[in-house]
Amino acid sequence: MNSKEFRQHAHQFVDWMADYMDTVESYPVKSQVQPGDIYKQIPNKLPKSAEEMDAIFEDFKNIIMPGVTHWQSPNYFAYFQANSSPPSVLAEMLTATLGIQGMKWVTSPAAAELEEKMMEWLRDAMGIPSAWTGVIQDTASTATLASIITARERASEYSINESGFDGQPKFRVYCSTQTHSSIEKGAKIAGIGSKNVVEIPTDDYMAMRADVLRKTIEEDIANGYHPLCIVAAIGTTGTLAIDPLREIADIAEQHKIWLHIDAAYAGSALLLPEYQSIIEGIEKADSFVFNPHKWLFTNFDCTVYFVKSPKALVNTFSILPEYLRTDTDGLVNNYCDWGIPLGRRFRSLKLWFVMRHYGLKGLQEKLRFHIDLAKWLETEIKASTDFKLIVPRSMNLVCFYYKPTDMDDMVELYKLNEKLLHRLNATGKIYLTHTTVYGVYTLRMSIGQTNVAQRHIEAAWELIQREARALGELL
Ligand SMILES: *Cc1c(COP(=O)(O)O)cnc(C)c1O
Repeated sequence: MNSKEFRQHAHQFVDWMADYMDTVESYPVKSQVQPGDIYKQIPNKLPKSAEEMDAIFEDFKNIIMPGVTHWQSPNYFAYFQANSSPPSVLAEMLTATLGIQGMKWVTSPAAAELEEKMMEWLRDAMGIPSAWTGVIQDTASTATLASIITARERASEYSINESGFDGQPKFRVYCSTQTHSSIEKGAKIAGIGSKNVVEIPTDDYMAMRADVLRKTIEEDIANGYHPLCIVAAIGTTGTLAIDPLREIADIAEQHKIWLHIDAAYAGSALLLPEYQSIIEGIEKADSFVFNPHKWLFTNFDCTVYFVKSPKALVNTFSILPEYLRTDTDGLVNNYCDWGIPLGRRFRSLKLWFVMRHYGLKGLQEKLRFHIDLAKWLETEIKASTDFKLIVPRSMNLVCFYYKPTDMDDMVELYKLNEKLLHRLNATGKIYLTHTTVYGVYTLRMSIGQTNVAQRHIEAAWELIQREARALGELL
């Protein structure tokens, strides 16, 4: 393809992209295809001869699009958002065109230095201690794994990297019953073992009970274990519960335990000064992870990982074979030494575009607006007779269930709400997911898509009530 043909297709694609942004609401939010529907439409063999881009693009529209779940629809309320935004998409186009590999400073100085500056912008705007340093990772799972491995290396004086686990104590990692599965996965990969991940029970608000954490750690020490790492969740996946960081941080400090903060989703709210108190105590922690690729309008993937000691991180991950040695080593940040992969995408570019395009004020307005929409829904649910909140709204997440006044049987309620969720998602008009809280099948409505507006929430709430009552009448 020459540049003339490229230009022509690119213009055509950009037109399609803008049209998609305008019409995304007309697609079923959750893809309605059946397993295998897409697979069977793709030829079994790699084509022998070259194909025309027009034909490829037609297949994209006809085969691929029906199998797409529309995460950028303002009627998407499932899991958590994975938002994009126009400035982010524009930056991704440039990133793809440059096609750089930002493993070392010298392989693209702009990528390394823009990343360094973007981490400072975010750190300062979010109220992270100014002595901390940030680095971009692909996902929160990878950052949490890096955190557990760094904790392991610091505790073993960097000897496990070299000699393995011979003669090491029995390490343990602590988190609440509500923390994300990436903690257990990280502990498994880091060689700690999932049996040594201790899940601490939670209080009425699904937040970790610091008193139980303290007692468990003291008992473990008495029994010969070495408490390695505590993971505090600032915004759990199920209900966006906030663990009591200050109390947890005191325990970590007292017993010299690595403290990692998982704010993968809710970290965005730290751009709002009124939310910064939820990380009081962070100065006693060691690491913090947050995903701009969720609720900060930046395309997946882009995870921000802040650490108190970049030295501990680099000591853990730096490998310097001869072919990677450069004459600026020691003067600049070679981010391949700050995490697991060697190769790195130029992810800071989209962050730069997004933060400049909206400005701090614009980002804050969007976040506050989403939280206000969730407050509106919370008020409606509280006022209704047959819907209940399972826990109070946290930020922009509302967790609720349908409970017809004359139905008290837990099993029946569970089945009813499960049916309701499937029915709602089958309409294609909205997409919600669920969690279970206290054995109750709970609908989660996460309100934070880039372009969500009041009318979407009103329509969703009307649909939910209508479908629920229709289902109730069938009983
Ligand atoms: C989304 C999420 C994760 C995992 O994020 P990835 O970037 O997909 O690995 C971890 N923890 C919490 C609290 C999350 O919300």
